[in-house]
Amino acid sequence: MKALVKTEVGKGMDGLGIMDIPKPVPKKNELLIKIMATGICGTDLHIMEDGYPHSVPVALGHEFTGVVEEAGEETSGFEVGDQVIVNNIIGCGHCHYCKKGDYVFCNEKRSIGINLNGGMAEYTVAPFDHCMKVPESMRGKDLPALSEPIACCVRGVLEQTDIKPGDKVLITGPGFMGLMCNQLAKLCGAYTIISGTPADKARLELALKQGADRVVDNGDDLKKVVEEVTDGGVDIVLECSGSPYAIPGALDAIRKQGAWTQVGMYGKDVTVAMDTINRKELDFKGTFATANSTWEKLVKLYELDKLQLDDYVSARIPLENWKEGFEMFQRKEGIKLFLVP
Ligand SMILES: [Zn+2]
Ligand SMILES: [Zn+2]
Repeated sequence: MKALVKTEVGKGMDGLGIMDIPKPVPKKNELLIKIMATGICGTDLHIMEDGYPHSVPVALGHEFTGVVEEAGEETSGFEVGDQVIVNNIIGCGHCHYCKKGDYVFCNEKRSIGINLNGGMAEYTVAPFDHCMKVPESMRGKDLPALSEPIACCVRGVLEQTDIKPGDKVLITGPGFMGLMCNQLAKLCGAYTIISGTPADKARLELALKQGADRVVDNGDDLKKVVEEVTDGGVDIVLECSGSPYAIPGALDAIRKQGAWTQVGMYGKDVTVAMDTINRKELDFKGTFATANSTWEKLVKLYELDKLQLDDYVSARIPLENWKEGFEMFQRKEGIKLFLVP
């Protein structure tokens, strides 16, 4: 079968290529999944550039959905033809963190698409207890390939942040994560402000369409809007940009004793005015990937049809043309790009 495989380190895009690898055979606890679509993620590009721990050779792709083509003998609850999404992080199952359902912190974790062959391929396999059936209303669509990044937002907003109805929430960075965090904050009853740059015009328009209360494309307007709609600053910041330029404005915009959840990753050390965290007694939280509990919440949101997903997929690109997709991602074109085998 065809797969996009990273074969060599230190070669950037030249270390990746479409290869013909054996179609995987599911073990007794695994499902063989015929891939419908796989999202291109910043992590895939970091792996390409050796900026994220991974194994080689590996077929990339951790954001996918597909249909069960074969089920191992110990995979109760699943049948051939089920469309599934997959919690791609597989832990040892018995350490402190695995017992809590936090596989992401397991020292022996292996992730599909990072250490184990993933979804940028015609097929992949996954343990059945890491798979979830796509609710009926979404079946047949490839949009559930957005599940992993949505789950990361569910972790950040619904599990790591305590948003109450009426809270004023500033979301910095209107990329996919910021837009999805806006939707989740709105579901919590928040008043949301999304900030970006003049280059984010289309994304900010989409944020408004998806219920954001205010959008701003520069720091001066952010200051004005925060003064206008809050009494001393926003209650919560969801920093989704991963850009060091967003930090000072957001630290300024947050009220005393406000809460900050760091959703975006910077990929390098950045300067933060730590004294401001003290002076304002901020509640500063990290969020990283997903926990088991996150996926349960995500499936419930799907079942209740709570998320607007139609405007996120900017292009569906044949797997063979992966280079075009990776280059579009590097140029920040579109919101989410899917590779289709
Ligand atoms: Zn991802
Ligand atoms: Zn473990």
